[in-house]
Amino acid sequence: MFSRSRSNLALWFTLTMGSILVGFASVLYYQEVLDSLRNLDQLLDKKSRVMAVNAKYDTLKQQLDLENVPLLGSNVSPVDSELVYARWYDTQKQMVQFFGATPPLGLTTTLGFHTIKPEYHQVRGTFRDAWLRELTLPIYQDDLLIGYLQVATPLTYTQNDLAHLRLVLLLTVPATLLIIGLAGWWLGGLAMQPIRESYDQLQRFTADASHELRSPLSAINSNAQYGLISNNPSVQRQRFENIVDVAKSMSTLINNLLLLARHAGRLTAESLQPVDLKSELLKIADQYTKLEIAQHINLTYKLPNNSLIVLGDADLLHQAVVNLLTNACKYTKAGGQVQLNLFAQSSWAVIEVIDTGMGIPEADLPHIFERFYRVDKKRARSSGGYGLGLSIVQQIVSAHGGYIRVKSVIDKGSTFKIILPL
Ligand code: ADP
Repeated sequence: MFSRSRSNLALWFTLTMGSILVGFASVLYYQEVLDSLRNLDQLLDKKSRVMAVNAKYDTLKQQLDLENVPLLGSNVSPVDSELVYARWYDTQKQMVQFFGATPPLGLTTTLGFHTIKPEYHQVRGTFRDAWLRELTLPIYQDDLLIGYLQVATPLTYTQNDLAHLRLVLLLTVPATLLIIGLAGWWLGGLAMQPIRESYDQLQRFTADASHELRSPLSAINSNAQYGLISNNPSVQRQRFENIVDVAKSMSTLINNLLLLARHAGRLTAESLQPVDLKSELLKIADQYTKLEIAQHINLTYKLPNNSLIVLGDADLLHQAVVNLLTNACKYTKAGGQVQLNLFAQSSWAVIEVIDTGMGIPEADLPHIFERFYRVDKKRARSSGGYGLGLSIVQQIVSAHGGYIRVKSVIDKGSTFKIILPL
């Protein structure tokens, strides 16, 4: 699934970037064609005007010398040898003089610029097969039309330049497309990475949750069946009590799962309220001293004189501290100590839960915040732990923009610190 999405991403990226590239190359090429033609036209126009001035001078000379006889032949020297031909027509559009290829006797083409491919026999020599750019313009002297001039220059150089540009584009565009494709594949992989990670995490979470739910369900099933086949009321009662216990633990598990699912990511601004940590912790400590779970240990607390206010969700923060305290009590032997501290450190509020319990092996420390992670699978299950308590704490703390830290020494105890921005 992921490699198909990655290929699709790469394909769409290549297609999008490729179309932009091809469009850009086409515009570039079209602009180059227009520019080359404009330059050629300007050059042709300039040359023809210089020739027109010479032609006017010749006509004037002929009129003064009364030699008003039209001359046919190639005795008009062109301004530039790049001209394929130059033709001079009189006002009746009849040929007067020409240079280069033999022209038709009358002027047939319209005025202005034209791109033409002359007949094979019309142009000889180097430019025999070439396309030509032809300019025909009227010549005036003192506002009086005195004739027409027609000149043509080959398009060979322009065509060669354009062919060269086409070749460059033909080689570079596919090469760039290939690079874009590879970049798309790489970017696709990069984009898929976090999705893949969260998908894997979700898969693992679903698998773990189903696994954890399967054991209490089969316990309920076996207890119910045993109760049904037994005629002894006290056995039946015992079975029902077992079912109630397992159902309670299942409900805790489901509540925890829902809590994890509901509060992923940072809290919204609306759910943030000023929370007085001192009075919250006072409440928790008060409740805890009365709870059965804490009866075997000595719970003490050290709170600041002033209240410490953080922005957050009071219920969630309550839940986080309760989870830490529950663990501290759960993993500390009778007669042990659990201490709950609150103090401010620069702009942070620190909640400390210190116990003198069994401690956590160093190798397990990096994993204890993972969902369903239990240091000792058997012990934790027997004491009702699903390995979700600490991941809930961590999720709540990071939803408040805070951190959680742990220090632990085997058989000496553990210290959990919740650090929240004040
Ligand atoms: P559980 O529901 O199993 O307690 P947690 O996520 O709260 O799950 O804790 C994960 C594991 O970390 C526990 O299984 C336990 O082994 C270990 N742990 C957590 N807190 C303590 C503690 N205060 N002392 C010793 N071990 C602890």
